[in-house]
Amino acid sequence: PPAFIQRYEAVVNVLTDKRYGGKLKKIVDFGCSELGFAIYLKRMIGVEEALFVDIDKNTLDTYKEKTRPLHTDYLHKRSTPLVFRVMEGSVTQHDKSLEGCDAVVCIELVEHLYPEPLTELPFNIFGYIRPKVAIITTPNADFNVLFSNMAKFRHWDHKFEWTRIQFQDWANNIVTRFPEYEVTFHGICDGPPGTESLGACSQMAVFHKSYDLSVEKVTGTEGLYNPVATHEY
Ligand code: SAM
Repeated sequence: PPAFIQRYEAVVNVLTDKRYGGKLKKIVDFGCSELGFAIYLKRMIGVEEALFVDIDKNTLDTYKEKTRPLHTDYLHKRSTPLVFRVMEGSVTQHDKSLEGCDAVVCIELVEHLYPEPLTELPFNIFGYIRPKVAIITTPNADFNVLFSNMAKFRHWDHKFEWTRIQFQDWANNIVTRFPEYEVTFHGICDGPPGTESLGACSQMAVFHKSYDLSVEKVTGTEGLYNPVATHEY
């Protein structure tokens, strides 16, 4: 399958593995863009609420219908409730609705952030939301030599692309500052035989919360996010 599908599948595999399978009730997908991940969350056992957050209102307005239940969803009613909320907002904002999220997903988001929001992101995810698991994927710059005719970056809106070492430095620094978490690294979408030393097309960091520190809770603020669509299944 194409790289973007392999990315979705890699994230689903983490969210449904033995450690978490069925235990993640509330999930947020930051930088949800065209809402391509929604269909995967809809099928996931145990999920009762999913938030889809992106800073780009136009994209959300264009694709929000993707989260609407289909006729077949009404025919095969779920045994547990499920609500999808599409919201305009930033991964850096302490919106009240993020409270209680068990899992945070950021698929190819961080490389779109300027230094300031990139610095704020860990405070929001690991200092405020404090999910059981957070999954962050980003391009692997080591792999770029395999693309011919590439501009500076793979996409015009990328602010940077990290090598594996750079990404691991960033993520290891986060777990140093937020000691509840441990992090593991994974490649997504392997290149052709003989290119193993470059790693995979995308790289994924999985942050597991290994224990709960008794730290003072950061309180969220009501109404920072702008609701775009809400659908109940
Ligand atoms: N996650 C998507 C997927 O898997 O289909 C792809 C993400 S797309 C490459 C990057 C998205 O990040 C864009 O839709 C952009 O609007 C969004 N974005 C950029 N800055 C953001 C921010 N501060 N908070 C939330 N989303 C942001």
